[in-house]
Amino acid sequence: MKLETIAVHAGAEPDPATGAIAPPIHLSTTFEHGPATEVLHGYTYVRDENPTQDRLEAALAQLECARYGKPGQALVQLEGSDEGRVPTGSGSSPRSGAPMPSGEQRAEGTGKEQADSQGQDAAGPPRRAREATTAALVFASGMGAAAAVFQSLEPGAHAIFPEDVYVHVRVAHREFLPKWNIQATVVDMSGTSAPTSRSATGPEAVSRAIRPETKLIWIETPSNPRMNITDIKAIVQTVRASKAPGAFVLVDNTFATPVFQRPLELGADIVLHSTTKYCGGHSDVQGGALCLRKRDALYDKLNRTRTILGAVGSPFNSWLVLRGLRTLPCRMERHAANAMAVARALETSKHVEKVFYPGLASHAGHEIAARQMSGFGGMMSILVKGGWEEAVRVASRVKLFRNATSLGGVESLIEHRASAEGPSSTSPKNLLRLSVGLENAEDLIEDLIQALGS
Ligand code: PLP
Repeated sequence: MKLETIAVHAGAEPDPATGAIAPPIHLSTTFEHGPATEVLHGYTYVRDENPTQDRLEAALAQLECARYGKPGQALVQLEGSDEGRVPTGSGSSPRSGAPMPSGEQRAEGTGKEQADSQGQDAAGPPRRAREATTAALVFASGMGAAAAVFQSLEPGAHAIFPEDVYVHVRVAHREFLPKWNIQATVVDMSGTSAPTSRSATGPEAVSRAIRPETKLIWIETPSNPRMNITDIKAIVQTVRASKAPGAFVLVDNTFATPVFQRPLELGADIVLHSTTKYCGGHSDVQGGALCLRKRDALYDKLNRTRTILGAVGSPFNSWLVLRGLRTLPCRMERHAANAMAVARALETSKHVEKVFYPGLASHAGHEIAARQMSGFGGMMSILVKGGWEEAVRVASRVKLFRNATSLGGVESLIEHRASAEGPSSTSPKNLLRLSVGLENAEDLIEDLIQALGS
């Protein structure tokens, strides 16, 4: 089964209670249980898990091929097995009828964790049934998902980050990791700057930075905002052949989405999404997600961190992101076509010093992007000739593009990143980031050309 079909049908089983085609939103924070807290309907407490979030997790896992291997296998019910069954909530969960302590009273985390670490609950179903749920975890925001990854590292651990990365990931690793006795090294992971005799780039830079205590390699490709491209497969191979072969490789796939890039298939261990962006797609919902290949010890750790420390998504937000996923492949196709047209037009403008769009042959990471992505996405950055003032002047002249932060919505947005990122910004002073929306490409080009030229 192809991605477009999965996007429409994953987590979309009709509501068993009413037959409703659009999934219900279960806002209830708590679920009836038995007098000794026996789980009667599969759910206990909203922070542990809830039916709307389960649907979203099933959909995200299938789109990223977390646990199912290849697209299509997800919707196939394997004979005599619970594998492949997509949880539908509303009492049809594989957890139904499983006696289990309530989320509020459990001392040792959720039923999911207990099942996975012990093989079964005290009096609950065996592990095989629990594995029928997915290996995606939904969070309140992209940064909530990132924080859960950081919080699951032990004191004394070491992590490697790329030079160009979403600004609050940089702030988080600079400001918070040292307090938790976790060290971070920043390298030019994309390998797109010219190597000097003192500094390596790309996989070589990761290889040099890696230590026996390295536990996490953070990749963001394309990166925000410089659109750097990192070779996921090469970094994974480098890590596996290093002093820390078990270190986790995380890829922030927010810009590319599973429509254009599948990091788990390239060997990565964790995919992160700010679902606030393309997955939601309409600038009206905040969320985050982590997708893993399967439920393993790392999944347990992240799940426990989310449940105990609480950065879990809300049912309503889960529902909005799920609705966004239905149209994700169609929207991404149009975003990418528009972005390519805009990039080509801007490349010919005498007011533009450089266009950073991985679909252009002039982009330093074009070859890698063409290999590991099936489309180049809707994001780009440009360097305006001149400096800070000239860039801000262009942003002040647009009529159709909106000056706003964030990205991935249907409407086109423009932002002077050095202003937006504040003192910790490492973005060039004349850089404008564009989130190219779903409007007519000619209208968008006309708007930018008049803003650049007048
Ligand atoms: N990752 C990337 C690439 C982002 O651009 C952002 C936000 O802009 C995040 C993560 C954080 O996501 P959120 O704003 O949902 O916390």
